[in-house]
Amino acid sequence: MAINLRTAAVETREQRLGTITAWDEGTAAKLAEQSEYSRGCGAGCGVGNKGSKLCELESPFTQGGSCAEQVVQGQASGILDAVLVQHSPIGCAANQPMNNTNFRNTLARRGMAVRNSLALSTNLTERDMVYGGVEKLQETIREAYRRHNPKAVFIATSCATGIIGDDVETAAREVQEEIGIPVVPVFCEGFKSKHWSTGFDAIQHGVLRQIVKKNPGKKQEDLVNIIILSGTDVYTPMLAELGLRANLVLNLATIEQLEQMSEAAASVSFCYTLASYFTAALEQEFGVPEIKAPQPYGFAGTDAWLRAIARATNREEVTEAYIAREHARVRPIVEELREQLKGLTGYVAMGASFAHGVVVVLRELGIDVPGTLVFHHDPVYDSGAPERDTLGHLVEETGDVENFTVGIRQHYQFYNLLQRVNPDFIVIRHGGLSPLASRLGKPSLQLGDASFPLGYQGIINLGAEILAVLGQKKFHEDLAAHSSLPYRRSWLDEKDPFALARAAVA
Ligand code: SF4
Repeated sequence: MAINLRTAAVETREQRLGTITAWDEGTAAKLAEQSEYSRGCGAGCGVGNKGSKLCELESPFTQGGSCAEQVVQGQASGILDAVLVQHSPIGCAANQPMNNTNFRNTLARRGMAVRNSLALSTNLTERDMVYGGVEKLQETIREAYRRHNPKAVFIATSCATGIIGDDVETAAREVQEEIGIPVVPVFCEGFKSKHWSTGFDAIQHGVLRQIVKKNPGKKQEDLVNIIILSGTDVYTPMLAELGLRANLVLNLATIEQLEQMSEAAASVSFCYTLASYFTAALEQEFGVPEIKAPQPYGFAGTDAWLRAIARATNREEVTEAYIAREHARVRPIVEELREQLKGLTGYVAMGASFAHGVVVVLRELGIDVPGTLVFHHDPVYDSGAPERDTLGHLVEETGDVENFTVGIRQHYQFYNLLQRVNPDFIVIRHGGLSPLASRLGKPSLQLGDASFPLGYQGIINLGAEILAVLGQKKFHEDLAAHSSLPYRRSWLDEKDPFALARAAVA
């Protein structure tokens, strides 16, 4: 699992961590237990991943999804003074309007001037697929530099460039020498990894290789790197209580902020799916300690997260005082919310470690969570630290989840998954599954702002928002009464969401 920054391309998650994208064998505890085996013994089960005992289902088709390149788009075009060049056919840029919307929304959330993100495409055509696209790539980088005068250019490769074998690394180096700013190739061909979260690792790999200062002259003992997604900045005020400054990366960061990551006192995140590679590499290659603690969800997780930051930065006393103040402020409100939410059942469907955190918060609010869908599963994160076992923490702190499923957000399976548990509401992060839930009369709470359920205040946020969402129940019941699903009766009667995958193996 060691990080290797000498090669231009990052190893995929399935190679490094034994990541799987389909599992439906029962409970969260069972998956946690199987993941535990996969960390140590290295024995394969015959159909699982290299070095892993986790067995993985394989569906005969995919209804929809994302890819590593799409993730890199969102991440790179969210760096404030950089430009993204997509070396791809124009179709790979179809997601840019959504990325741009996220970018604009996050600027607004953080009180910054709203503008568009900066991205260009090389718009590869059939001719380029035959004769190569390197000249077009170099001209597009020069054009990005002329138009926007950025501090760095990131190149996202695509399936097409992987197939034709363009020498992107040399092309980038040549233009970098010409224009005098970092030109960072990010190898994120969609077909290379079966899960899109490899895109987080790919962009972080590029930043670590070419942007982060190799020999920082000074250490900033009060600076903490916080690896974030688009969301409100809840970190700056929280860390200020501890006498610390938050270096928020990559989302809405400047190149200067990325350069100084090696000067920080520690690195931490709210989501270890997102930050696994970054924080482990910063510790291994730059000596910046990774905070090894559960994620900051619910009282116990947030306490442990803050205390681990306090230990790494010698701020224990002031941190204990902050924790005591926050408990005194938040606990009475949470008690009231628990009364109002009593008897409710929720279902969580989102990225893996974020989902683990959200289930913890729902249970803190007294809500029953009998089912969860995570879009992939990493049996371990890059540093291998047991304190970062987010699934294990969920089970140990709050109990088991009876119907725990790994699947890449397929509509046709989501229908059967919801039939298993019949929840009162759904909590999701990616909007695509909401319309199906609505057609079944289930209201959804969409966590577009990734900071929403985080920390002590996050417990209150989530509880209050669930009450608001439940106020729309009648609207969703009306929708269900006047809509139908596009599936055959045989599939609607099917109890097993993975029946097609199991039939393919049999
Ligand atoms: S990189 Fe590949 S999988 Fe991703 S959008 Fe482009 S063609 Fe599709």
